[in-house]
Amino acid sequence: MTKSSAGKTMLNPFGVTMVEDYEHLYEEFGIQPFKPLLTQISNPSAAMRRGVIFGHRDFKRVLDAMKNREEFAVMSGIKPTGEFHLGTLMTAREVIYFQQQGGTAFYCIADIEAYEDNRISFERSQKYAVGNVADLLALGFDPKKGYIYQQSKEQRVKDLAIAFARGVTLATMKAIYGERHMGLYISALIQAGDILLPQLEDFGGPKPTVVPVGVDQDPHLRLTRDLAFKFRRRYNFIPPSSTYHKLIKALDGSPKMSKRDPMSYFTLEEKPGVISKKISNAFTGGKPTAEEQRRLGADPDVCPLYDLYLFHFFERDEDVAKLYTNECKGGKILCGEDKERLTKIVLDFLKEHQRKRRQYIDKAREILEVE
Ligand code: SF4
Repeated sequence: MTKSSAGKTMLNPFGVTMVEDYEHLYEEFGIQPFKPLLTQISNPSAAMRRGVIFGHRDFKRVLDAMKNREEFAVMSGIKPTGEFHLGTLMTAREVIYFQQQGGTAFYCIADIEAYEDNRISFERSQKYAVGNVADLLALGFDPKKGYIYQQSKEQRVKDLAIAFARGVTLATMKAIYGERHMGLYISALIQAGDILLPQLEDFGGPKPTVVPVGVDQDPHLRLTRDLAFKFRRRYNFIPPSSTYHKLIKALDGSPKMSKRDPMSYFTLEEKPGVISKKISNAFTGGKPTAEEQRRLGADPDVCPLYDLYLFHFFERDEDVAKLYTNECKGGKILCGEDKERLTKIVLDFLKEHQRKRRQYIDKAREILEVE
């Protein structure tokens, strides 16, 4: 858990994350702004172009590998505590983007963390994992150019965690994560093992590796970069790089979706009626009356539905810009009308996604070696 000096920003991978102002993260947390790199990327993703990916650590190293067509890896994953939601969708799309740019992709099913952080048994998380992997494949992950694995079954990750345990003290873990039970400290070391797995000899040895994550995961990156440095003689690790995306607002307007409140988000497996209801009940940045909204415009910056368009559901950047400036701020659309439009786009996307996902369930079972 990392807190800003004023205490208004808190990055906590095991709990509540608050970001008052993403710009502050540059000065206070040493995260680098992503925007200056944008012109050097020949084929930036929508999230990069739209500023959803706002920061990085050491991404230049990966960018150089991309430009020079050299070997690099992308590594991220999911905690299998339920169905894919909009936050995990974001990370999956980023992994797939880097895979399509030539990276070898590693996708971890973080079942040890699901157990330690959320008390989900391995048996239960395995059921979720099958669906999660089917989602990943349906979104375009190519298993021939990647490695999908469960933490609990990947001995090399556990071996790395055991080795890394000699490199940290309890005081360091408390400074990074706050006072926690030992299981969470162990799962943080396991995550360090995940992040550095692509650099083991079994996978071709040291290479630039990018970890695309939500900014709440930055404490894991700081720990892992430190461990990569400490264990450089033994493993020759290159410190991992990261990109950070903003956190998508919850449907009630709060800063981050929470699995503890099912009305604050939706999953990719939800029924159309439930999706419609959740979008219809969502908070917006609208004005109390239609007349005021037409006259004064609404506020997309506080609106979770604007985030949905920005992060996921408008394919064209022009449509995002038009919604922000003209339709929303300019009072050209009312929130009710916008909710109807968004519901249709989301339902069309999910219908197609769920169709593809069903086709990948057997493949997901095969990859995870589930009967
Ligand atoms: S018009 Fe759309 S984007 Fe703007 S506040 Fe209303 S729902 Fe949100």
